[in-house]
Amino acid sequence: MNQKINIAIYGAAGRMGQVLLQATQLNPRTQVSAAFEYATHPHLGQDAGVTVGLPPLNVPLSTNFAEDFEVLIDFTRPVPSLVALDFCVKHRKGLVIGTTGFTPEEKARIDAAAQQIPIVMAANFSVGVNVLRKLVFQAAQTLGESFDIEIVEAHHRHKVDAPSGTALALGEAAAAGVARHLRDVAIYGREGHTGARDPQTIGFATVRGGDVVGDHTVMFMADGERVELTHKASSRLTFANGAVRAAAWLQGRAAGWYDMQAVLGL
Ligand code: NAD
Repeated sequence: MNQKINIAIYGAAGRMGQVLLQATQLNPRTQVSAAFEYATHPHLGQDAGVTVGLPPLNVPLSTNFAEDFEVLIDFTRPVPSLVALDFCVKHRKGLVIGTTGFTPEEKARIDAAAQQIPIVMAANFSVGVNVLRKLVFQAAQTLGESFDIEIVEAHHRHKVDAPSGTALALGEAAAAGVARHLRDVAIYGREGHTGARDPQTIGFATVRGGDVVGDHTVMFMADGERVELTHKASSRLTFANGAVRAAAWLQGRAAGWYDMQAVLGL
């Protein structure tokens, strides 16, 4: 009883990987048992903890998936993420996916895999953003058709996908609140002579620069007033703690696709 859950981190030396190693050790229910990186990573074979400036974890940074874990947490890129997915399906392991930027076809592969293994996937693992999603849905539902909805997000200069997965998830929550589908109404940028704003649309604006961990604001704008709902992440540890919590929640679950709302019981 009370045995810790063995967690593997994929992308262990990345920005998120570093805090995931930390968060897994901080959570009383979990421990790091494997740390994976790409085939030519310069620190392969070294202790994963030491590599990222933590005390030794006695877990080497490795490129070969081994089965010495129960749940894998993946924060990499879509292509390696799908390699991890195949491995987890083959060996019946739980999977937490934090990677963003998947195409619809790649997402469909994840959905299919969720018929065989339990998967938690979220564009944002912070508790605050998941509460914000609910608030955005409620605000859209209550304010309704007469408010224009726009979403502004800012991230650090290294982020490779836009708009952020979180901005898209907030857009979906807002669209659901006014009974629209985001794919039908999203405007991902404006330039030149755009004409007047179509009231059905939901607009996105992206800011990139510096070391911004992640800011999101959903604006509901009408004549004479404006409601703005904002979340600002100041530490990646908030995402890592949520992902590790999801991994612990996942252990022993039936196959299925779960989001962070399910993990938090929202
Ligand atoms: P990063 O570039 O710092 O780290 C990515 C890691 O993946 C690196 O360690 C890199 O070596 C590894 N990697 C890249 N290509 C690989 C390959 N082909 N095979 C194996 N490993 C490979 O990026 P990051 O800031 O840590 O973000 C990683 C992902 O997590 C991004 O998709 C980002 O959008 C997402 N993210 C999600 C959340 C969330 O809450 N869901 C929060 C932050 C970041």
